[in-house]
Formats: sequence, C-alpha cells, structure tokens
Amino acid sequence: MVEIVVHDLRAFTHDRHAVVDDRPYGGGAGMVLKPEPILEAVAGISRGEETRLILLTPQGRPFGQAIARELVEHRHLLLICGRYEGFDERVRERLCPDEISIGDYVLTGGELPALVLLDATIRLIPGVLGDADSARYDSFIEAMLDFPQYTRPPVVQGLSVPEVLLSGDHERIRRWRRKEALRRTKARRPDLLLRADLNEEDRRLLGEIEEEGSC
Ligand code: SAM
Repeated sequence: MVEIVVHDLRAFTHDRHAVVDDRPYGGGAGMVLKPEPILEAVAGISRGEETRLILLTPQGRPFGQAIARELVEHRHLLLICGRYEGFDERVRERLCPDEISIGDYVLTGGELPALVLLDATIRLIPGVLGDADSARYDSFIEAMLDFPQYTRPPVVQGLSVPEVLLSGDHERIRRWRRKEALRRTKARRPDLLLRADLNEEDRRLLGEIEEEGSC
C-alpha cells in the first residue's frame, strides 16, 4: 500500500500570519522560503534512517528511470517542494537532501515535479501495475526506447499492423520488437545506445538496420 500525505508548511510556523516566505537578503525580485518552517517540518515528519529526504529543485541531479529504481527501494520518501525563488540556502546546508530536478526548465512550484517522481516510482512497486511485464519493457528500462505498439483493428485508413505481430510466432515477434526498439533508439536517442548493454544479437540487428538505411 502507498500512502501519500501532504503537509502544509504553514502548520510549522509560529507567527499569527503563518508566514513561510520573506524577501531575499541583498535585494532582488521574488520571495524566498524561510528555513525554520522547513527544518521544523522535516524534524517532525522524518522517520530517521527510514526516510529518504528529497528536495525538488531545477538545480538537482536529473531525474530518470535509474533514480526511480533507486527510490522504490525506500519505505519512506519525504519530498520538499519549493515555491517563489526557492529555498533559503541553509535548508540544503542543514539537511543535505538528495536534490532532484525533473528537467532543464523552471516550473512555478515543486508539486508537479513531486507527482512526476512519485508516479514513476510507485509504478515500479510490485503489484501496482496489472501486468508486471508492462514496466519490464518500458522505455529507458535497458537504456532503450520501447518498441512500437499496435492494437485492433488490423487495418485503419489503409495503415496495416506489421504482419509479424499477427503471425503468432513468438520468436519472430520477440526479434521484431527488439529490432524496432533498437531502430527507434538509434534514430531518436543514440546517446542511450552508448550505455546500453548490447548482446551479440543486438549488434547483428543493428548491422541489419544500418544496411536497411532506414531509421
Ligand atoms: N530560482 C530557482 C532556480 O532558478 O533554481 C527556481 C525556483 S522555482 C520558480 C520554484 C520551485 O519549483 C523550486 O524551488 C522547486 O521546488 C520547483 N521546481 C521548479 N522547476 C523544477 C524542476 N525542473 N525540477 C524540480 N523542481 C522544480
């Protein structure tokens, strides 16, 4: 079971207006999240060693499937979402959180990054997906994009499903899917192939793709 609890930082303030932000020292635009409510919140919510503390920031390490696999091993994730100009630097200094970014762009707050990270992580928990194989063959699982998928009908507006997928020949289908995954990865994300764990068959299929000249 997964339980998601949202905590309001204002609950960890002690002034009448429950203020969580203030102007930046040195001047400049925007507001900065005050350190005390965050430090107090983490102290109150953390379960010590069991907790993996994550701070969502565009300055963090880039989120990807490998980090999702890492996070799914933890029983308790505590995600700190920013707003405005972000956090007082002493939050980082005091807590040394795992700083994670979901991409090289800036969103208004950490809520969407938190949801992205949670969704990618939770679907890796055994039993969450109806069919465990759905996640096993997803893009990025093996530094590889997923193969093209088709469903019924077999022909739509003159476009047919590749014959091999209707053949019932499991070995041909497996080989076709592997080849198309390689073709797609080579065409769209050649950077992934550089760190993919390719076997002899993969190299042979890549040779065929090269000869066919179609990416
Ligand atoms: N001034 C900050 C900077 O340039 O690093 C950006 C602050 S942003 C407007 C407000 C908050 O949104 C951040 O503190 C962070 O929690 C969240 N956020 C925005 N973009 C993000 C991203 N790409 N990845 C993770 N969190 C992000």
